[in-house]
Amino acid sequence: MITFILSFVLLITGTNNQITNNNSKDMKLELIKLPYSTDALEPVISRQTIELHHGKHLQGYVNNLNNMVEKTKFENADLETIVKESDGAIFNNAGQVLNHNLYFTQFSPNGGGQPSGKLAAAIDATWGSFENFKKEFESAGVSLFGAGWVWLAEDNNGKLSILKESNAGNPLTKGLKPILGFDVWEHAYYIDYQNRRADHLKELWKIIDWKVVEQRY
Ligand code: MN
Repeated sequence: MITFILSFVLLITGTNNQITNNNSKDMKLELIKLPYSTDALEPVISRQTIELHHGKHLQGYVNNLNNMVEKTKFENADLETIVKESDGAIFNNAGQVLNHNLYFTQFSPNGGGQPSGKLAAAIDATWGSFENFKKEFESAGVSLFGAGWVWLAEDNNGKLSILKESNAGNPLTKGLKPILGFDVWEHAYYIDYQNRRADHLKELWKIIDWKVVEQRY
């Protein structure tokens, strides 16, 4: 009898899992998987912040976007196309999905240090030194009013610039390619740093995976 009940429970559980999997396959866009565990970036970013930021905020943008593009011309478009060609609520959610995909994949618990190769050379040529670049980048993030992003971006000739974008803004809409992005929405740091945005931005350099960033350049 016990065996029978157990089998029945397993059958039901199995069926439910199948339904969940099928549903998630139907969704056009999926939440990206983190390339590290949720506590791997501590103490720079806490497990609680990662769980909320990735599991709730980003998941929310993904869900919104999937619902909004249904039966529109963006239904089968890739994410970058949607960001470049949409506006309003679709742009806000698509921009935030793209921004966070870039954001979460540029970190590593073994990150930090400095860029190398042609990216390092381009940074030195533009800002004089890596130290000076970091200072300018942090200052852009601190002086951005309200919610948004600070980006390192490149143009078609590989020329680098620092951009301040409010809300869901991304360099793509200006014809530039995003290389590195710091999220300055309060949800990115408030649990760990409260109002100290500058301290948070300064700490982020310790977890930057420069190999990933160099590959984008
Ligand atoms: Mn965010």
